[in-house]
Amino acid sequence: MLADKDRIFKNLYGQHDWGLEGARQRGAWDGTKEILARGRDAIINEVKASGQRGRGGAGFATGLKWSFMPKQSDDRPHYLVINADESEPGTCKDREAMRHDPHLLIEGCLIAGCAMAVNTCYIYIRGEFIRERERLEAAIQQAYDAKLIGKNNIHGWDFDIILHHGAGAYICGEETALLESLEGKKGLPRLKPPFPANMGLYGRPTTVNNVETIAQVPDIMRRGAAWFAGIGRANNTGTKLYCISGHVERPCNVEETMGIPLRELIERHAGGVRGGWNNLMAVIPGGSSMPLIPAGPDQTDTLLMDFDGCREKKSALGTAAVIVMDKSTDIVRAMARISYFYKHETCGQCTPCREGMGWMWRVLTRMAEGRAHKNEIDTLWDVTTQIEGHTICAFGDGAAWPVQGLLRHFRPEIERRIDQYTANADKAGALNPPVAQAAE
Ligand code: SF4
Repeated sequence: MLADKDRIFKNLYGQHDWGLEGARQRGAWDGTKEILARGRDAIINEVKASGQRGRGGAGFATGLKWSFMPKQSDDRPHYLVINADESEPGTCKDREAMRHDPHLLIEGCLIAGCAMAVNTCYIYIRGEFIRERERLEAAIQQAYDAKLIGKNNIHGWDFDIILHHGAGAYICGEETALLESLEGKKGLPRLKPPFPANMGLYGRPTTVNNVETIAQVPDIMRRGAAWFAGIGRANNTGTKLYCISGHVERPCNVEETMGIPLRELIERHAGGVRGGWNNLMAVIPGGSSMPLIPAGPDQTDTLLMDFDGCREKKSALGTAAVIVMDKSTDIVRAMARISYFYKHETCGQCTPCREGMGWMWRVLTRMAEGRAHKNEIDTLWDVTTQIEGHTICAFGDGAAWPVQGLLRHFRPEIERRIDQYTANADKAGALNPPVAQAAE
């Protein structure tokens, strides 16, 4: 369990002042000038040594990502872009961080910006986050007024932050679609390479980071990489915001250590599974685009909530949005509903994704009723593998994986429904024989 002294998000529940004074009392903006004075390489090396991996879903090492930015400037401006488009179903952690502790993010932007020779940072915030945008705007203004950021600020690194409000498209959470959208175009993911570190926003070197990732940086720099690396386990270090939703007694967001066992996370913070642990059917550990993990001794009972722990169970930590489903869940219908979401949100550039999303949804909807043939189960699996890895962006993978999770673990349930539907149809046929037969 995470000790109170190790918490980064000390105002996650909004019980204290979100503003500059409150943030300062909690330790924000303390010694920032000295941190920047350590220089670009020292900051990047410290973040590398902390082992921090991106908190937005992909889990790429933060310090390494920063090191891809050009060391020597060729007179093109560098940009830092914060991905605050949090749209993954089940995920609501960045929202709380921006609402209640916005100065953590703003200070993190300044430090990351200095480390990558960035003077202009864009924060791309989700279209539906109206109040969060207002709060963040107010906090940015406070930072300007106190000369913490802006031109000739007290930290000695010129730094502007521009807040940009999205229009509510899920795909704009994909980093290159986000850049397109920021440039005023449709949010269509770009082919890579070139990667944003070489050619990002307006064709300039750009790094895109998640809100939680950047909000953790000031604490890593103040308390040291060893402190952060000492929490969790190797390759899965630090603290993490988990969002627990679904069939639990008390859905919540909570900051915990990486690698906390799933059962402890749910029972300690969310009041347990509705009806008790034995009533659990499955969890999705990292937002709706990750494969589900079924209940069982080798599955959810031994699941450690970090990157490697989820991978061992053939899933992924993703955004750490834990969606809990108890035994009352119609699991096939639930996955059909998730497929409908992805059908709605595909940008349509790639044929496997554009056509496959609707196809998977239609087949799953029939399977939920049992109105399918058993050989369609293998066909559905085949289609998921033809989408996975064959598209421009990771959206295709993220839409195929939940279906794969269902087929991997709940195939007997789909077969049972097909058998039942067939038996019912046969019975109905016997009770209502065709007209010609009835006349004989
Ligand atoms: Fe668009 Fe889907 Fe292709 Fe991504 S995978 S670019 S969302 S069509």
